[in-house]
Amino acid sequence: KCGHVAIIGAPNAGKSTLVNALVGQKVAIVSPKAQTTRTRMLGVALQGETQIILVDTPGIFAAQRRLDRAMVAAAWDGAGDADLIALIVDGRAGAGPKVEKILQSLKDRPERKWLVLNKVDIAAKEKLLSLTSKITDICAFEEIYYISATTGDGLEEFKHALANAM
Ligand code: GDP
Ligand code: MG
Repeated sequence: KCGHVAIIGAPNAGKSTLVNALVGQKVAIVSPKAQTTRTRMLGVALQGETQIILVDTPGIFAAQRRLDRAMVAAAWDGAGDADLIALIVDGRAGAGPKVEKILQSLKDRPERKWLVLNKVDIAAKEKLLSLTSKITDICAFEEIYYISATTGDGLEEFKHALANAM
C-alpha cells in the first residue's frame, strides 16, 4: 500500500521536524527561523509493507510579498495531491490568526483531515485541551493526535495510524 500525506501548518509548527522524524533521516531543513522550507519536500516513511509519502510544505500564513504568496500556494498545492491532510499545530503557541486562517480554508476542502498537536513536551496539558476544542469548533477532524516531533512522544502511534489509513 502507498499513500500521500500533506503536512501543513503555520510556520514553526514543527512540520519539517515531524517529517524528518517519521522518515528517520534528515530530508527537510529544521530551523527556529520561520519559512525555512521554501518549497514542497517529499519524504517516504515505511511502516511494514506500507509506504507513506510525506509532503512537507512551507508554512501557510497571510502572505504579503510575492515570494511568500508563492510559498503559500505551494503549500496548498501539496495538499491537493494528498489522500490525507495533517494539520500540525504548535501546542504551546496555540491557535492565533495564522492557524485560524488555515482552519477557515481547510474546513471546505474535500480531503480527509487529521489534527496533530505538536510540542507536547513544552505545552501545558490544559492548554492542549482548550486548544483542541478551539480548533475543532472551526473545522472538524477525523482524528486527533498529540505528539512531540523532537522527543518522539506519540509518533509510533501516529505513524501506525497513518499506515492504516493509506
Ligand atoms: P516548520 O516551520 O513547521 O517546518 O517547523 P520546524 O520543523 O522547522 O521547527 C521549528 C522549531 O520548532 C525548531 O526549532 C524545532 O526544533 C522546534 N520543534 C519542532 N517540533 C518540536 C517539538 O515537538 N518540541 C519542541 N520543544 N520543539 C519542537
Ligand atoms: Mg519547515
